[in-house]
Amino acid sequence: MLKLYNTETRAKQEVKLQDDLLKMYTCGPTVYNYAHIGNFRTYVFEDLLRRTLKYFGFPLKQVMNLTDVEDKTIQGAIAAGEKLEDYTRTYKDAFFEDLKTLHIEPVEIYPPATDYIAEMITMIETLIEKGFAYQGKDGGVYYRLKSFPSYGRLSHLKLDELQEGASERVSDDEYDKESATDFVLWKSYDPKRDGDVFWESPFGKGRPGWHVECSAMATKLLGPTIDIHVGGVDNIFPHHENEIAQSEGCTGKHFVRHWLHAEHLIVDGKKMSKSLGNFYTLRDLLDKGYTGAEVRYLLLATHYRTQLNFTFDGLEAARQTLARIADFVHRLRSASAPSGPAAPIDEARTAFKAALGDDLNISVALAALFDFMKKINTLIDKGQLTSAEATATLDFLKELNTVLAVLPLEEKALEIPAEVTAAFEKRQAARAAKDWEEADKQRDYIQAQGYLIEDSPTGTRVKKQ
Ligand SMILES: [Zn+2]
Repeated sequence: MLKLYNTETRAKQEVKLQDDLLKMYTCGPTVYNYAHIGNFRTYVFEDLLRRTLKYFGFPLKQVMNLTDVEDKTIQGAIAAGEKLEDYTRTYKDAFFEDLKTLHIEPVEIYPPATDYIAEMITMIETLIEKGFAYQGKDGGVYYRLKSFPSYGRLSHLKLDELQEGASERVSDDEYDKESATDFVLWKSYDPKRDGDVFWESPFGKGRPGWHVECSAMATKLLGPTIDIHVGGVDNIFPHHENEIAQSEGCTGKHFVRHWLHAEHLIVDGKKMSKSLGNFYTLRDLLDKGYTGAEVRYLLLATHYRTQLNFTFDGLEAARQTLARIADFVHRLRSASAPSGPAAPIDEARTAFKAALGDDLNISVALAALFDFMKKINTLIDKGQLTSAEATATLDFLKELNTVLAVLPLEEKALEIPAEVTAAFEKRQAARAAKDWEEADKQRDYIQAQGYLIEDSPTGTRVKKQ
């Protein structure tokens, strides 16, 4: 059984298949620069969720939108002197590269907002017809918040509290609205602000507001009711509240059965910001010599509803954990006891699955893995792991890796540099030829590179120090 915490009901609820597919919508990136590690915390969590749903046997259709038209993409394109589509193309490509680096499995559909402008216009027309929206004096179209009484049910905010807050806030979105809390559905064209970016519509030239983009794409691609909708906690209000108001206003049906939100990532205990010098994109970490797997492990290993404190010590610890697992896999491959007990795989699987089924309790799931490794290591130490049980263990790790997608199961994951391997081979050849001087020379070289030579009953190998 898979239970997930629902932001709206504030309770863990079982996920149930209501249709032939489980429909999941995840708010995607705004493609105006490289995504930072805070963004990737959410995307890695969503990937863990996706893989867990599949592990539990749910057939899945997941949509992740690409926000390629809103204020930041337009400002970026104007500043760079590029056409909007050329400017966003760079960051779309970069985003997909980064997903690959982090072993994030591609979802079924990545709709760019600019491909769904017609659907957004239709949705806005429906909202106007039904009295949920109106055109302001400035030509913009706004959502009439008081027409949707259950507004605030996701964030557990009350409309009158919002009104007080909103009246103190001044933003670009506020033109000639009936009420300060009404939010924009269609932004009327402003050549100074928008450059050459606009679409024709029944409400005049302009472009959609960000919130309506997600509602239009979600309902078009997944239908009026979706099973799971995911984002970061900063999306709860106003973005997801607005999505509910728009979608339900338009379709008259319940929009989302299950809302999930990932907590923030902070760096060294502080909010990540460029001015504090603690702002990192994934690419910054790769430049410092860390791997996608190491970053993924770090982002994955904290429960999604807990704030994640990113530190370089944490990243080093992730590196060590993965090296430990790589070493374990290496030991497995050389296990060949003539007889011994069965590996405790069923027990480990039950513990792993129960942990994930409890709102993706990743720390308990990882603890189940480490506990299992410890038991197998003991068998290897005692010379009691047969090659058949070692193979079964490796197959089980592959099974877990369909969810974790971070375990270094390939031999190459040991990452012994080619020069070190070459020196090791020379050393072995020198020993065979009884050229002790040459053998020692090669051994010293290997050690100076941070590796050591380990002799074991099953043979000699190089290992990281
Ligand atoms: Zn969204």
